[in-house]
Amino acid sequence: MELKVDETICMGCGACVSAFPENFDFNGETGLSHAISNENATPDMADVCPVGAITVEEATPAETEVEEDMAA
Ligand code: SF4
Repeated sequence: MELKVDETICMGCGACVSAFPENFDFNGETGLSHAISNENATPDMADVCPVGAITVEEATPAETEVEEDMAA
C-alpha cells in the first residue's frame, strides 16, 4: 500500500502524526503532514484525516521504492 498526503488539502492538524507516527511526520518547511513510510499501511489510515487529505493506494514495487527514496 502507498500512503499519500495531499498538501493542498492538509491543514496540519497532526491527527495522522499522532495516530501513526511511524508513517506520517510534519514537513519542517510547510508545517503540513507527509508520509514517511508505507510500512504496515492499511486502507483505514485515510479515515484518521478529518479533511480527506490522506489516500491509501495499491503501489507497484517500483513506485514504493521511489516514495521511500523521497522520504529518506
Ligand atoms: S490528519 Fe489530515 S489534515 Fe491532519 S495533519 Fe494529517 S493529513 Fe493533515
